[in-house]
Amino acid sequence: MKTTNKILLAILGIVIIGFLVFFYNGSDLFQGLLKFKSEINSPKLIPAKQKFIKLDKLIPEPVPAKPKLGKLLDELVPEPIPEKSKLIKLDELILGPIPQDWINQFNKDFEITFIYKDCIQCSAPYVAFTEEEKLALKNATYRNFYVASKIDSYFKKTLPWTKGKSLYDWFKDSIDGISYFDNPSKYNKCCKDGKTIVINGRNILNHIKDGNDKGWFSPSSSLSFSDSFIVIYIHEARHANSDDVGHEDCDNDGVKGEDQSLQVMGGYGVSTLFNHWMRYMLPEETINETINKYGEESFSYYGYIDRLCTFDKNNKELDQDDQDWIKSVSGYEIKCDKLCM
Ligand SMILES: [Zn+2]
Repeated sequence: MKTTNKILLAILGIVIIGFLVFFYNGSDLFQGLLKFKSEINSPKLIPAKQKFIKLDKLIPEPVPAKPKLGKLLDELVPEPIPEKSKLIKLDELILGPIPQDWINQFNKDFEITFIYKDCIQCSAPYVAFTEEEKLALKNATYRNFYVASKIDSYFKKTLPWTKGKSLYDWFKDSIDGISYFDNPSKYNKCCKDGKTIVINGRNILNHIKDGNDKGWFSPSSSLSFSDSFIVIYIHEARHANSDDVGHEDCDNDGVKGEDQSLQVMGGYGVSTLFNHWMRYMLPEETINETINKYGEESFSYYGYIDRLCTFDKNNKELDQDDQDWIKSVSGYEIKCDKLCM
């Protein structure tokens, strides 16, 4: 073989080996590329997505912290506190709206009825209420209980005969309803059918006619909203309580028309106590606003305190025992000055 041929053969050999090496590596590379492409599309990449899902799951965890913070703030700021410290204007309460849901609840808790024939003391002729008068009495009932309950919610201490209950709850536990009779000469009474107080509706309508429902105090009749409405219902409902001791006859006129003392908390006692609470247990601003507008007498003990056997009508003084008791219960003495009639 010629040297030239040998060289050519050697070059050919190198080229062939080169090609073989190239194809061997190239195919590996090709397969490697294919493998890489297939891995991109293959499900093997899914776990990476799951990792993101796990991260997603970690992210929402701080969210419940918001309600927790809200709840904590609610617990720190109990609702009644701002309510009690707020100024209430009695006239706004008396003339303002009554929420419909409050009226609905009242109608579930109490029944308002009108009686003509079977009222307890109806020996005198009676007149039937007109539909308009019935409506006026219904509205006066809502107004009375709404105003009384709202006022009670502002008292610094609960009323002493309710045993820690709100006035509304005490009413609810004491009576089932209010029944109005139409006879101007007869008295209110407790109770019909066990737990229904019987109220002289004509008397209430006359208070409305006199404008005693137009504000806290009516200068023309010298009666407060309490005298015209609230204490009338409280007095009768008190007789429905099992611990009510009833009235006494301490002026010996043959009628049991007085209470033995203030501290027995009879019908006249609770009326006196409600007005005492009005004078001293409401927020200071409310008391001052009312006195500035209507005078001190708008909180008077009216005709209840002089129905107590412990009240000296000549000196206008309650005996020492009742004075000590009222001061221990409320923190305030009863000072007659302008408050006793
Ligand atoms: Zn009575």
